[in-house]
Amino acid sequence: MSIRFDGRVAIVTGAGAGLGRSHALGLAARGAKVVINDLGASTQGEGQSSDAASAVVDEIRAAGGEAIAHGTDVADEAGVRDMVDQAMKAWGRIDILVNNAGILRDKTFSKMTLEDFRKVVDVHLMGSTTCTHAVWPILREQKYGRIVLTSSASGLYGNFGQSNYGAAKAAMLGLMNVLHMEGARDDIRVNMLAPTAATRMTESLMPPEALELLRPEAITPGLLYLVSDDAPSRTILGAGAGCYALTRVYETEGVLLEGDANTPEGVAAQFDAIADPSGQKELTDAFQQTRKYARKAADARGLN
Ligand code: NAD
Repeated sequence: MSIRFDGRVAIVTGAGAGLGRSHALGLAARGAKVVINDLGASTQGEGQSSDAASAVVDEIRAAGGEAIAHGTDVADEAGVRDMVDQAMKAWGRIDILVNNAGILRDKTFSKMTLEDFRKVVDVHLMGSTTCTHAVWPILREQKYGRIVLTSSASGLYGNFGQSNYGAAKAAMLGLMNVLHMEGARDDIRVNMLAPTAATRMTESLMPPEALELLRPEAITPGLLYLVSDDAPSRTILGAGAGCYALTRVYETEGVLLEGDANTPEGVAAQFDAIADPSGQKELTDAFQQTRKYARKAADARGLN
């Protein structure tokens, strides 16, 4: 099975460097026309330059591909609208959106300013939301769309000093779940990528041998699968150094505490049973949880 993107149009945010650049080159090499979005900001989200995005466009064109650059901040609604308009003007459709742009402002929570917290949430969560919102009507109309939200192990599992980044990256889960449900009937598939790579974002944290193993190019095949015609939907794909794994969210079977047993002490006494992983399941929508609890309580009371 050969995965190709001929005739497809992709927007990759933060594509001037690191993972976004690698994803954009990978898409273009397999036939996609690509919008190279990049603000040209520092890792902390300061400054602006069009150099990096232009260099990636040049690289794609030199290899015979088609690309245009757009320097909007992903969280700037008017700028994003203009980027989408430019893509539609150039190529008449948009099939793929890779939400990848990102910054870091690490501090322990006691030293974190709310401004730094908001800025990180703004770029990652609101940036992904703004770009997705701008392409959503086009994808629905076409009855085809592939969206990736870039998360992080920091958001899924936690990382000291990254309360802002971890919260923003975990928020991708809530966004993905609902977009998956609302997009399904129009063949819009939405997935999360949780990469780990050596980029300017992480290079100071790792020894040189690890940097070589963790090249961004080792992740891009996973991303290309997530935006392909036969992509899955609602998956969280971890990727790094050529390794791939899925993250899943399970709920334990749980315990019913009835009447007088439903006290804080009752919860404490039953906590091991509440946490027992045997019989745990992935729930597929919020009301499954409501129904499960109501059913347990009704069964215990002999109600139908
Ligand atoms: P990077 O710093 O190399 O690239 C990020 C790019 O995004 C830069 O070119 C930057 O100019 C651009 N950018 C920043 N803010 C922007 C904005 N507001 N609008 C448009 N462009 C903007 O970083 P990277 O490591 O390639 O990270 C890419 C994505 O992967 C990020 O979302 C990051 O959080 C995520 N991620 C990276 C790692 C890793 O190990 N490198 C791990 C987990 C998640």
